[in-house]
Amino acid sequence: MPEGHTLHRLARRHQRLFGGALVAVGSPQGRFAAGAAAVDGRILARAEAYGKHLFHRYERDLVVHVHLGLYGTFTEGELPAPEPVGQVRMRMVGPTHFTDLRGATSCEVLSAAEVRALTDRLGPDPLRRRPDPERAWTRLHRSRVSIAALLMDQSVIAGIGNVYRAELLFRHYVDPYLPGRDLPRDTWEAMWADLVTLMRDGVRRGRIVTWPRQLSVPPGSRSRPGAARVAVYRRTGEPCPRCGTPVRTAELVARNLFWCPTCQPAPPP
Ligand SMILES: [Zn+2]
Repeated sequence: MPEGHTLHRLARRHQRLFGGALVAVGSPQGRFAAGAAAVDGRILARAEAYGKHLFHRYERDLVVHVHLGLYGTFTEGELPAPEPVGQVRMRMVGPTHFTDLRGATSCEVLSAAEVRALTDRLGPDPLRRRPDPERAWTRLHRSRVSIAALLMDQSVIAGIGNVYRAELLFRHYVDPYLPGRDLPRDTWEAMWADLVTLMRDGVRRGRIVTWPRQLSVPPGSRSRPGAARVAVYRRTGEPCPRCGTPVRTAELVARNLFWCPTCQPAPPP
């Protein structure tokens, strides 16, 4: 699933291509026909993201809310736009470019008040201007729930997904099963600062890079040396880049968790 950096990157891109311009909005597939008709021919005032949500704000308080979910994607191109291919839920056409949305979990028109109600339920987003990490700490440090589950809870922090979660815990030597209330305050502060840096870097690059390195090739192996961008995410069984212990995986709240049992040990009882 796309994490927050992807949505913020999309918002910036849409702002650059369509912001302040009159746009034509349609739903070639038909599922968003009524919503598209409500904003078609209006000026897109601003595109912005909050966590994993994308908002296209139009004049007169109308907002198109998009949540990509697991399968949603935007594609784009220069005008003239070709005939839509496949299930295009929304097509937006601006002065120079068009973009097509397919496969999203949500694509709907909301009022500004409905958007506020939605964002009020989200935790601070490290990529927004002046996020309030204290709100996240208030939730974390009172909870018996594991830190790994809390980090994925969008009402605690908005925008983190499975990759940032695994990498952040690894970088700060935190046992994923540690209850939120046992996380030391200084560790949390370092994690938040690091998360802001990592996610901003993700927006710039368009990909998550938390632990770049060349992979070594075992002697005698014919495989070519590769490069890795993350430390533990989806690297089950491979040596931890810090200590060499095989990376472990387990399922937690229906998502796979990855960690190094040596670098992120459970605290003594
Ligand atoms: Zn390790």
